[in-house]
Amino acid sequence: MPTAGQRLEENVPGKYYVTGECNGCGLCFSYALQNFMYSNDSSYYYIIEQPTDPREEEDIRKAMGVCPMNCIKDDGVLA
Ligand code: SF4
Repeated sequence: MPTAGQRLEENVPGKYYVTGECNGCGLCFSYALQNFMYSNDSSYYYIIEQPTDPREEEDIRKAMGVCPMNCIKDDGVLA
């Protein structure tokens, strides 16, 4: 089970990650299909690919803006 506030293990290494507060709503996936993936039971999502260009980064930033649990984070380091 994911733990609240912690980076989920499934996130690929890198700047962006999802924490255990994720409720599995899937909004992030609809904004950034290429960067998010759902868990086996679809109960949460995680970063499967870090952004590879500015457009993907923008999509992730949009997903961060709409995430109802505010659980998409970045490491605070400017790209
Ligand atoms: S938008 Fe937020 S709460 Fe919803 S699935 Fe994505 S990370 Fe989880």
